[in-house]
Amino acid sequence: MAAPRELLKDALPLVTGDAGLESTVIEARGRRIGGTYFGLVAGPCAVETLEQTLETAHAVAEAGATMLRGGAYKPRTSPYSFQGLGSEGLAILREAREETGLPIVTELLDPRDLEEVAETADVIQIGARNMHNSRLLTEVGRVDRPVLIKRGPGASVDELLLAAESVAKEGNERIVLCERGIKTFEPRTRYTLDLGSVALLKRETHLPVIVDPSHAAGRRDLVPALARAAAAVGADGVLVEVHPRPEEALSDGPQQLRAEEFAAVAEEIAAVARLLGKQIG
Ligand code: PEP
Ligand code: MN
Repeated sequence: MAAPRELLKDALPLVTGDAGLESTVIEARGRRIGGTYFGLVAGPCAVETLEQTLETAHAVAEAGATMLRGGAYKPRTSPYSFQGLGSEGLAILREAREETGLPIVTELLDPRDLEEVAETADVIQIGARNMHNSRLLTEVGRVDRPVLIKRGPGASVDELLLAAESVAKEGNERIVLCERGIKTFEPRTRYTLDLGSVALLKRETHLPVIVDPSHAAGRRDLVPALARAAAAVGADGVLVEVHPRPEEALSDGPQQLRAEEFAAVAEEIAAVARLLGKQIG
C-alpha cells in the first residue's frame, strides 16, 4: 500500500522541496540539464565498435546533442545476448569524447567497476534494473560524478524518489531522474511511457527529470512523437538511442533512430523546448 504523502515528504528531505523551489541544474563538462537547460542525450544502446561509436558520436554532435550516451557494461535479459565490451567499450567512449567534446553518460552495473567507470563517465547511469540496488546507490552517492537514475519498469514515483534520496544521503546530490516506461497491460509498445509521472515529478522534486522514449516505445517510428511530448510535458531533457545502421545493432536495433532521424527530431524538440522558455543545454 502506498505510504501517506506526508510520511514520504519526511522520508525525502533532500530530493523533495517546498513548492516553488528552483529546479537544480546538473552540469557535466559545461553541458547542463535542468532549470532553463534542456538536455539532448543521444547515442547507441551499446558501444559495439570504435567505428560505430565514432560515427554515431559525430552524427549526434552535429545534430545538437549535448551528451553522448552508450553502454559498455550492458544489463541483458538473456545471458546469451551481447553483454557489452566492458573496459574496451569505455576506452572507445573516451576516444569519442576526445573527438567530439561531448560528455559521456554510461552505465554502472556493479560496484566493483565503479572506479573504472567513473574514470570515463562524466555522468554515471544507474539502469532501470538496478534502481532498487541499494548498495550500488550508496556507492554512487560517494563519488564526484552526476548520477542518472532510470525508473524501474515496476517502480512507483515514490520508489524512484527514494532511490534518488539514497544517493543524495551519501553526499552526492547531482542527480538526474529518467522516466523510461513502465509495465502495464498494453503489449503493443515495449513499455508504457508514463508522462503523467513526469508532470508529477516536476512538482515534487527539484531534481531534473528526463525522458527516454526509445526504451519506452521499443520501436523507432514512435520515438519522435514521444520525444516531442516529453519536451511539451516539461521534461528537462530526452535520452534517445541512435545507431548508424540499426539493422546491424547488437542490442535494441528496432528502437534506435538513424542519424538523420535523430537530427530531424532534435530540431523539433528544440523548438518545443524554446516554446517553454528553455534552451538546449
Ligand atoms: C539502457 O539505457 O540502455 C537500458 C538498458 O535501459 P533501461 O535501464 O531503461 O532498461
Ligand atoms: Mn538500449
